Amino acid sequence: MTEETKTNFIHDIIEADLASGKRTEIVTRFPPEPNGYLHIGHAKAICLDFGTAEKYNGRCNLRFDDTNPDAEDEEYVQAIQDDIKWLGFDWGENRYWASNYFEQMHGYAVALIKKGKAYVCQLPQADFKEYRGAPTEPGKEPPGRKHSVEENLALFEQMKNGTFEDGACVLRARIDMASPNLHLRDPALYRIKRAHHHNTGDTWCIYPMYDFAHCIEDSLEGVTHSMCTLEFEVHRPLYDWILNELNIFHPQQIEFSRLNLTYTVMSKRKLLELVNENLVNGWDDPRMPTLCGMRRRGFTAAAIRNFCGILGVTKVESISEIELFESLVRDDLNETSFRAMAVIDPIKVVLENYPADLTEEFELPNHPKKEELGIRTVPFSRELWIERSDYIDVPPNNKFKGFFVGREVRLRGAYLATCTAVEKDSDGNVIQIQCDLDLDSKGGNGLDGRKVKGTIHWVSALHAVDAEIRNYDRLFTEENPLADKDADFKEFINSAALEITTAKLESGLAKSKPSDRFQFERIGYFCADLDHTEATPIFNRTLTLRAPRK
Ligand code: ATP
Ligand code: MG
Repeated sequence: MTEETKTNFIHDIIEADLASGKRTEIVTRFPPEPNGYLHIGHAKAICLDFGTAEKYNGRCNLRFDDTNPDAEDEEYVQAIQDDIKWLGFDWGENRYWASNYFEQMHGYAVALIKKGKAYVCQLPQADFKEYRGAPTEPGKEPPGRKHSVEENLALFEQMKNGTFEDGACVLRARIDMASPNLHLRDPALYRIKRAHHHNTGDTWCIYPMYDFAHCIEDSLEGVTHSMCTLEFEVHRPLYDWILNELNIFHPQQIEFSRLNLTYTVMSKRKLLELVNENLVNGWDDPRMPTLCGMRRRGFTAAAIRNFCGILGVTKVESISEIELFESLVRDDLNETSFRAMAVIDPIKVVLENYPADLTEEFELPNHPKKEELGIRTVPFSRELWIERSDYIDVPPNNKFKGFFVGREVRLRGAYLATCTAVEKDSDGNVIQIQCDLDLDSKGGNGLDGRKVKGTIHWVSALHAVDAEIRNYDRLFTEENPLADKDADFKEFINSAALEITTAKLESGLAKSKPSDRFQFERIGYFCADLDHTEATPIFNRTLTLRAPRK
């Protein structure tokens, strides 16, 4: 299912582990924190975690890393599951919650205290910073380090029982206040936080810190290879220290570089800011790099998987070009989307020699190269809409495909028509053009060896459906909106990233279901919006037909 990746140093590690017998079964996990919607960066992790399990016939757990009750919400849990399924992956029975291990984690914390490897520190966080010191100078021993095991056990019990205020103390690992790695200078393992937890309710007023929780979660689940992004590299010694001290199953943490994309931002916190400040219309706004936004826009799961596969898995930090992603989306949509006719800047054509009371139906293929995608019927009548750009008084060169007076053009799938006259308003704007049909040319017959320069799309005016069109462009005007550290990234929002226009659609499009994708011929790729109905048709422009010239 997953496209083979170009480079993947992690698979090399796994293959060595299988060959040496260190591992016989491969277990991975995708560990989202349910505090926001997934973005395309997460897709890279999902493809890697689930894709690796698939490749080696192992399993991948979906584990909700719900150790911070503040920001987490059920709404996100459902959305995350929907997005993973949409991408094409399945955790089967293997869905877990970090919060289900709170009891065990507490037990492990007590075990560390008993070993003299953890202590309760009553320094306020700000004061601890002073004790921790800087990378270039060693820290000092916090006072709590001298507590006896019994004192620590009693204090930790009190922390758990709610004796202390939030933030009054933390449980710390006793490691090395002089370590060059600040993460090893007695990091916090547990903190006091009176917050209602979506799963455990008010059972706990102490919660484990990420670094303590994550390695234990991986260990309890028998994860063999725990893949995470590069920022966790400096945390790895702590991951290893905790598992070694507890002497429990020891997964291998392996870091890879994050996916970044030009003209957007890839952090849940920043995306949440855009949502909260109404700079976009929610998480699934089609301008967003969230998976639900991309889905709504019409991007395909296959293109996203393909993109992640092409980028490969390395430790090199980079920002990938959105143009590459878009070209993969276009390739996929070109293969898979149904063709339809839509006129976005209409002028009226009157077919002078066609009966006013006649409607014919033409059968047009849904895809020019894929017969298996079937046909559709398109109504035809005396008055049509065509694109304004398909008429010109005097053609600039012989590449012009449309009408001018005297020019014969093919109306896609219907008849040949010759422009006989044009009507203009007092300002010289074209309001209508007149044509004569070659009535013998129906469906492409009767060409008699004549050459017809162009084929244009059209919509029967009598049957046309008026639709709202949402044209999307890049979310930011800057390639890297975060490059200028002194600026607020929100200053670089592209105010033209959403432009609402209208179009005249071929009538069958009204009956589309939300998310149905089309290529509007000669215009671009479009997708029926989630709010689309037959009565109020709305289409999102996924992408223009070709990449705009740089
Ligand atoms: P964000 O930085 O956007 O807030 P996060 O890392 O806090 O994301 P988590 O829910 O913790 O979000 O992420 C789940 C998994 O997805 C983690 O293993 C994380 O490393 C991975 N991940 C997050 N962002 C990216 C990215 N841009 N590229 C690749 N993997 C990512
Ligand atoms: Mg995170």
